[in-house]
Amino acid sequence: MAISQYIVLRGRRVRIRCPRCKGYRYHAIASGVRQKNVRCQRCGKTTLCRFEHRSGKRESCAMPAEVIFSPTRSARVHLCNMSPHGLGILVRGLTRSFHPGQELLVRYKSMGKNITRKIRVVNVSPGRIGVQFTDSLFSGR
Ligand SMILES: [Zn+2]
Repeated sequence: MAISQYIVLRGRRVRIRCPRCKGYRYHAIASGVRQKNVRCQRCGKTTLCRFEHRSGKRESCAMPAEVIFSPTRSARVHLCNMSPHGLGILVRGLTRSFHPGQELLVRYKSMGKNITRKIRVVNVSPGRIGVQFTDSLFSGR
């Protein structure tokens, strides 16, 4: 197999470009697969691709943030995932400071801008909490 591509995976799905017809196509790559022959659906060309899997920590979203309990008390945390409705927050040793239903503020940087949002704690598990935004268009749902 002459041509091979080296691809760093950040998720399960990856866009692979065919070296012959230049067509793009998404492929699902199972974790642990280090190389695979990928066949172009358009022209039939087979390419040997090598994959480097980024660890499952979703480091792309491990963003520093600050949870604000009160005007005098806040804590440094990390955001581990983000959706239009809420956040997953890594809270390390602070798990006991949180309980479902708790109303807080979270402050983080997004695209260079400081963002402060109102949140409500939805679930608490060791080292991690899930929160919902309460200040958005989705509030009240
Ligand atoms: Zn092709």
